[in-house]
Amino acid sequence: MRHPVIAGNWKMHKTIAQGVAFARQLKARVAGLHHCDVVIAPPFTALAAVADTVRDSPIAVAAQDVHWDREGAHTGDVSAGMIVEAGCSHVIIGHSERRQEHGETDETVNRKLRAALAAGLVPIVCVGETLRDRDAGRTEDVLARQFEGGFAGLTAQDFSRIIVAYEPVWAIGTGRTATPSMAAESHRFLRRLAEKAFGAAAGLRILYGGSVKPENIAGLMAEEDIDGALVGGASLEVDSFSAIVNYPQARRDQP
Ligand code: PEP
Repeated sequence: MRHPVIAGNWKMHKTIAQGVAFARQLKARVAGLHHCDVVIAPPFTALAAVADTVRDSPIAVAAQDVHWDREGAHTGDVSAGMIVEAGCSHVIIGHSERRQEHGETDETVNRKLRAALAAGLVPIVCVGETLRDRDAGRTEDVLARQFEGGFAGLTAQDFSRIIVAYEPVWAIGTGRTATPSMAAESHRFLRRLAEKAFGAAAGLRILYGGSVKPENIAGLMAEEDIDGALVGGASLEVDSFSAIVNYPQARRDQP
């Protein structure tokens, strides 16, 4: 049985004060929650303050990126050790916005991933196809290439510590969500790749990301191969993020 994960990616939103206020409210809403892991990913500036606020609660904190070196001349970058010191247990790696805006490749994803694992962080590694890829019938080729490059050279033990996020690029921030069955098909494909590369992949948690909202989370989570969600826009308001975290309730409320 895979324990679900609901993760909120704040991207470049929220000051320290706004992040702390959000974290306080969310903490009150998720007290005693057991059905899923809850992760929030503030911008670097707010990591330490948010991590302090959610200490001793079910909420974990993730950074949105990491550099592969332990230290060095990398202006603007942050190392895995610095992220751990700030109070993070997770880190998002290879988000499509970083691939598109910062030229990240499967090779840099792999280097970041190794640094994160070495520092004891749980990496949430994003993969996903563009609309052009999907329309050209290349979804599986793209996922296979990202999987093979991103996870190259890892041991099965390393791989068992990773969370994968399937995020079709065309569904991010667009209001277009993959249907639950479309998402589940890609999740099954990723699980087959994992089985082939690392043996047993039954425990691998694969999150769906792309315009997840309180209205569609129950349908997505009803799919056996969807183990949670990576949420962008709808993670910025406590009400919508709490509603997503409390997806079993949404399921009960459905006619
Ligand atoms: C994301 O950026 O990871 C994401 C899924 O964004 P949104 O939920 O806004 O589509």
